Amino acid sequence: MIENTPPRQLPVCLPPHSDELLSSWISRHAAFYAVPPLVMLRHCLPEASALRAADLHLSSDQEIRLANIFATEPAVVRRMTFTNVAQSARRLIATRPTQHCTNCCPGGAEPAPVLRSQLLGWRITCPLCGNRLRDVGVRELPSPFQEYRSAALRGEKLLDEGAERGIRAWASPSEIARLLLMRRMTWPPPCERDLWRFRVLGAHSDEAGQ
Ligand SMILES: [Zn+2]
Repeated sequence: MIENTPPRQLPVCLPPHSDELLSSWISRHAAFYAVPPLVMLRHCLPEASALRAADLHLSSDQEIRLANIFATEPAVVRRMTFTNVAQSARRLIATRPTQHCTNCCPGGAEPAPVLRSQLLGWRITCPLCGNRLRDVGVRELPSPFQEYRSAALRGEKLLDEGAERGIRAWASPSEIARLLLMRRMTWPPPCERDLWRFRVLGAHSDEAGQ
């Protein structure tokens, strides 16, 4: 049983980057110890199913166990996850990095560290330095929505406070975003040539909903 096995600290622990995602930190340790990331995760948490699952939810026992193994505090481990994120906002967490900050995203290292904000669909600015986040792997073009920037920043703050700190307005901001942005599919489904009507800002809902 896990509870009966005292976790041993790793001989070498790599310091986490600011705002680094737990799975990224575990993957960097896995690369250092030359094992697959899932092997490293299960070395720490034998019951864990996937790195993504560990990013989304950790029990307090798991936080304590990881903190012991990686020589840090449980609160530090918790801040690297999305455990605090309200359920309604979780559909806005991407499965892989979709954006990055040119100031704060560490480059050059392999594997490159992934920051939490790189997966957060409601973030348009970096929580560390405030710079605008850039799309990953997309040629930078002038935004056609520049005139809405200050409104977008207010929206980001609303969503961020609702998702990360549970601050509720009259309605859940992520629910409002879902209603505004997600495709409402009718039944029977529209024919192929009408599908464009169900796209918002050029994105399919199944992409935006990941
Ligand atoms: Zn930044």
